[in-house]
Amino acid sequence: MSTEPAWHALPAAEVERLWGGDGRGLSPHEVQARRQEHGANRLPAPPRRRLWRRALAQFNNPLIHVLLAAAAVSACLGHAVDALVIGAVLLLNALVGLIQEGRAEQALEAIRRLIDPQAAVIRQGQRCLVPAEELVPGDRVLLAAGDRVPADLRLLACHQLRIDESLLTGESLTVAKHVEAVALQAPLAERRCLAYSGTMVAAGSGTGLVVATGERTELGRIGRLLGSVVSLQTPLTRQMEGFATQVTTAILMASLGLFGLAVWGRGYAWDEAFMVVVGLAVAAIPEGLPAVVTITMAVGVQRMAQRRAIIRHLPAVEALGAVSVICADKTGTLTCNEMMVQAAELSTGHVEIGGAGYEPVGSVRFEQASHDARISLHRLALAAALCNDAELQQRHGSWCAQGDPLEAALLVLAAKVGLDVAALRQAWPRLAEIPFDGQRRDMTTLHRRPEGQEWILVKGAPERVFSLVAHEAHGAGQRLFDLVAWTRRTHRLASQGLRVLAVASGERDEASLGALERPSGLTLLGLVGLIDPPRTGARLAIAGCRRAGIQVKMITGDHAVTAEAIARQLGLSEHPRVVEGQQLDAREETDLAELARTSEVFARTTPEHKLRLVQALQSTGAIVAMTGDGVNDAPALKRADVGVAMGARGTEVAKQAAHVVLADDNFATIVAAVQEGRTVYDNITKVIAWTLPANGGEAFAIIGALLVGLPLPVTPLQILWINLITAVALGLTLAFEPPAGETMSRPPRLPGAPLLTPRLGRQTLLLCGLFSVGVFAVYLWEISRGHDLSWARTAVVHALVWMEIGFLLSVRLSPRQPLRPADLLATPVVRCGVLGVLLCQLAFLYLPLFQQAFATRPLGAQDWLVCWLTGLAVFAVVEWEKRRLGCI
Ligand code: ATP
Repeated sequence: MSTEPAWHALPAAEVERLWGGDGRGLSPHEVQARRQEHGANRLPAPPRRRLWRRALAQFNNPLIHVLLAAAAVSACLGHAVDALVIGAVLLLNALVGLIQEGRAEQALEAIRRLIDPQAAVIRQGQRCLVPAEELVPGDRVLLAAGDRVPADLRLLACHQLRIDESLLTGESLTVAKHVEAVALQAPLAERRCLAYSGTMVAAGSGTGLVVATGERTELGRIGRLLGSVVSLQTPLTRQMEGFATQVTTAILMASLGLFGLAVWGRGYAWDEAFMVVVGLAVAAIPEGLPAVVTITMAVGVQRMAQRRAIIRHLPAVEALGAVSVICADKTGTLTCNEMMVQAAELSTGHVEIGGAGYEPVGSVRFEQASHDARISLHRLALAAALCNDAELQQRHGSWCAQGDPLEAALLVLAAKVGLDVAALRQAWPRLAEIPFDGQRRDMTTLHRRPEGQEWILVKGAPERVFSLVAHEAHGAGQRLFDLVAWTRRTHRLASQGLRVLAVASGERDEASLGALERPSGLTLLGLVGLIDPPRTGARLAIAGCRRAGIQVKMITGDHAVTAEAIARQLGLSEHPRVVEGQQLDAREETDLAELARTSEVFARTTPEHKLRLVQALQSTGAIVAMTGDGVNDAPALKRADVGVAMGARGTEVAKQAAHVVLADDNFATIVAAVQEGRTVYDNITKVIAWTLPANGGEAFAIIGALLVGLPLPVTPLQILWINLITAVALGLTLAFEPPAGETMSRPPRLPGAPLLTPRLGRQTLLLCGLFSVGVFAVYLWEISRGHDLSWARTAVVHALVWMEIGFLLSVRLSPRQPLRPADLLATPVVRCGVLGVLLCQLAFLYLPLFQQAFATRPLGAQDWLVCWLTGLAVFAVVEWEKRRLGCI
């Protein structure tokens, strides 16, 4: 179509005709042809920052500024080589940062694409889910609460459809939609028969015909971009930046002091003293630290994605590591959400249903088989199949559910009873419906019976349906409803961990029946009990949480007795404390915190309860992860420290509100993500614990030499060399450390605990001392053997490198882990790092070019042995000290 008609001003039927629709949706052939004509339903990605900007950003750090200034002044003082080497170090550092950060950003973007939205469409009469990108004009799209509208749609049918269009119009109130055409001049916000791409379905349901995709949508036209550029900034990286400024200030102060001491105390010339100061600054500045911290974070995000937890906001990585309570939905997260009707309760007695999965074959065993019992079951199954939106499909030989698994299970029951669902749906056409609503916990449909009367069907939570009924079915007839007996039957099914559903019906023309919204005087047809087995691995994951000091709380809309039984099966607690939604309503905020803290199961809850629970738990100081999937879960997900949305089952609204999206909806994945979160934090601590003493030790050695009046044991250039090769090859290896076995056997980190603990400070001092002792020991030993200053300095450099290797190997090991030689070089990254450093050292010691540039000498076997022993000594002392104290 070349000129676009005004879709909002045309009747729905006309729009359908223009796009050649016959109500059954497009064929694959048409889809392909239209995709070629209109392209993919995609908006251009937000532009990435330009390369030069990203390169420049690498230098935007106070630590680097000081070094840049040092290089500039060295060059002015005629120390061209020093200036060049400082420049080279900075360039290499920036290059590593740029490459690693670029890779991390790309990986994050790729991870985001994993959760690209899907759209429910009707193609060739079949409902199917396709990636929203694959929609073409003319597609029939089904909308439900929580969906993001995947393209511009002309609405064909609406049921109480309300859409949040704030993205386009800025209007925060949701807009009620209808199918009638509006005036040609109607402004965008008043085109009630259109649904715009990118807006969110707040409530109700509808069907729409795609009239524009990709850049031709309203969203594309105004050039608004969905999604934002990936940012690698988090509170922790910002904390590191603050730390960098503090370190820089401290180093500048120390440098000034040293300068004064050199000039006035030791009689150094000004420029000579300046070069000593440069040496100190170069030695002490941990220039690689900010980049390594960011990279550690990005590595963690990638690992989480491999374990199927997709991080939407980077700061969630930190929060995950500190989570102390996980509130998880039962259905689908702790259980498989693959339902099967296992039992039914009729007024004539109990019925056991056999079979497996969604395969529509299985045994039906009556407690008391009779003609009445058979008719009762037949009526129940018929109603359950009609008041139902699911479909069963056979794919590659196995049966699967389209739509709500609970409803699919009811279709399977109907098939087992011998009903032909497709034929029934034609014979009993649906006239109206009120879709399932988690707040009301029921679904109502109105049908025309083959005999002509209208028939209301309601299915839902037993207590809700019981409040609408006056009679119970018995065979083909009915009798007065016995609430006590049915409550007992409900309890019997629920205590086996079954999800219980009641089904009722009523003739519409009966005078006693009220409106469809609130019918009364219905006839109860019976109860069905559905099994939803716990997920394999959920029990283990819950046990893992207990070891890791994390409380698990189950939140469900299900019956309290069902929830309690499942909680026991999952090992949540031997005697779980169950609280119902109503009890939560009755509590004041102050009492709620204690109740929330001490209870494990929350049943018959609504999404509003989730928000209250998050707030109550947070008020006790807990760091809360909360799962959610529905549109109403968004506030709780946003409020939680870690909001976790379901990738497969969750609505777009929930995914957008969440910090983390689970690709597999599995509880065990949350626990895996927590483990990775803890690992990231551990690794960052290790990076800092390793970097600070290494740099500080070199600085101590320079200050020490000046204080006792010795020549500098290492030149500034040599220090740069050490920092260059060790920061890149060794420091970075810590970013890739895998989770240690004990990560999940200790309690969560206390929120707000500083990264730089007093303990870390003490250890840094100890190591600075140790490094200085090592430096002077090697230096004096070499001089005492009659070697010249250059030889001694070369040996000191080599010893420093070995000490850093020794320290690195020790930092990697947990004090709770037995010391086994095999663990020392256990990961390929560490092996590569150590090998890389040693290869660089060989060049440094034996290649003439390096010998000239760095004034080095070719060390012999004895020197090697001594340097190696110094490294070993550092390793031994740190190991001894940390095992004595029980922490890094
Ligand atoms: P969970 O928190 O365990 O995931 P939920 O909060 O999603 O569960 P709901 O799906 O809201 O729970 O179900 C609550 C109750 O509503 C169920 O126990 C059942 O009785 C009833 N129910 C669930 N699905 C339907 C449906 N499609 N039609 C009618 N009633 C339903």
